[in-house]
Amino acid sequence: MKILANRMDLGFQKHQTEYEEAALRVLRSGWYILGKELQTFEEEFASYNATRSGEAEAVPFCCTGMTKSCDDTKVYSAGLASGLDALWIGIRMLGIGQGDEVIVQGNTYIASVMGITMNGATPIFVEPDENSQIDIDAIESSITDKTKAVMVVHLYGQVTDMTRVVEICKKHGLYLIEDCAQAHGAMWKGQKVGTFGDVGCFSFYPTKNMGAFGDAGAVIAHDPKFIDDIKTYRNYGSHKHYYNKVVGANSRLDEMQAALLKVRLKYMDEITNERRELAARYTSKIDNPKIITPVEVDNSYAVWHQYVIRCKNRDELIDYLNEKDIGSIIHYPVPPHLQEAYAYLGHHEGEYPITEEYANEVLSIPMYNGMTQEEQDYVIDALNNF
Ligand SMILES: *Cc1c(COP(=O)(O)O)cnc(C)c1O
Repeated sequence: MKILANRMDLGFQKHQTEYEEAALRVLRSGWYILGKELQTFEEEFASYNATRSGEAEAVPFCCTGMTKSCDDTKVYSAGLASGLDALWIGIRMLGIGQGDEVIVQGNTYIASVMGITMNGATPIFVEPDENSQIDIDAIESSITDKTKAVMVVHLYGQVTDMTRVVEICKKHGLYLIEDCAQAHGAMWKGQKVGTFGDVGCFSFYPTKNMGAFGDAGAVIAHDPKFIDDIKTYRNYGSHKHYYNKVVGANSRLDEMQAALLKVRLKYMDEITNERRELAARYTSKIDNPKIITPVEVDNSYAVWHQYVIRCKNRDELIDYLNEKDIGSIIHYPVPPHLQEAYAYLGHHEGEYPITEEYANEVLSIPMYNGMTQEEQDYVIDALNNF
C-alpha cells in the first residue's frame, strides 16, 4: 500500500459539486477582486471565530494599547493574499517596527519569524514546551524595554494555554499576536484561537486544515477600526478609489478563493472532527517505546493540522517508512535561528537546545481528510514494528 503524507484531492472530491458551482459563479460574474464573495466570506469567517462552545468562560482577551472600548464578543475579519501577509501586515498595523522586539517560539515555521523581521523588528526566540508550544514559563524572562509583543503559534493545530499568555501580556502591556495558520477552529476553554489577542493571523494555503485552491490568508480582530485599516492597507492604502491614505500593499484575497473558502468553511466542523478521530486512533494504537506521541492538553481542543511524533532515531524511521511506501514530513528540519536567512541575527548552534533537539526528532506521519481506517492501520502497524 502506498500512503502519502498528505492529500489535498480527497477534500475537494468530497464536496466537488459545491466547489465547482462556486468557481463557476465567480467566473461568470465578471467581477474578480474586492467584491461580494470576499465581503460575505469575511463576515462568515468572523462569525465562525466568534462562536464559542458551551464550556467557554470569559477569558479576558488582551487588547493592549489599541482601543479601550472594543467588545471581545465581536470578531471582524479582513481577507489577505497569504498567511505571511496576515502576519506582517497585522504586525505593521500594530505599529511594531525597527528597534522593537517580538517574543516567539524557536520551533516555528519561518513565516512567523518573517512576519516580524519584514517590519524591521527583532524576533526573540524562546524554547518550546514538551507539547511543542511556546514555553510560557520562559516568556517573562525574555521581556526587555524593547519588547512590544508576544506571538503565540498554535503549532500543529495544538493549543497554547491562553489564560496564562493573556495574563502575562496584560501585566507587561504587550500586544498579543496569534499565528493560527495551523489551527483554524482550535479552542482554548471553548474559545477559538485568534480571538485572545490583538490580532489573529490565518493562512489558507492549500495544505492547511482550511485550505484554499491557491494562496490566501486573513486576519481577525475585535477592533473594527483595526480591521478597516488593514482593508485600506491591503489595497494600496486606498480607502476610496484612487485616493491613498497610506503607502500600503497589494494583498487582496480574490473573489475566486473567497468563494471556494466559503464552501470549505461550511465543512470545517466536519473536517476538524474527522482529524480529531484520526488523531485519537493514532494515539490509542501507536505503541512503541521508541516513539513519543503528541497529547491534547487539558482545556484545549486541538485540530491536528499535523500529527507529529518524536523519535531519537528519526532519520532511520523515515528510511524504514519509505521502504514501506509511507510518506512523512519533517516540520521543520532547520529552526529559524539557524537558517541562512537569519545569520545576521547572530545565533549559533546549541543556543536553543530544545528547539534544536525537536528539529532532529520530530516527524509528521500521514494525516489527511479522507484517510481510510485500512490506510491508518497500515501506518500504525509499521510504526509499532519499527
Ligand atoms: C503556513 C504557515 C504560515 C504562512 O502561511 P502562507 O499562507 O504560506 O504565507 C505562517 N505560519 C505558520 C505557522 C504556517 O504554518
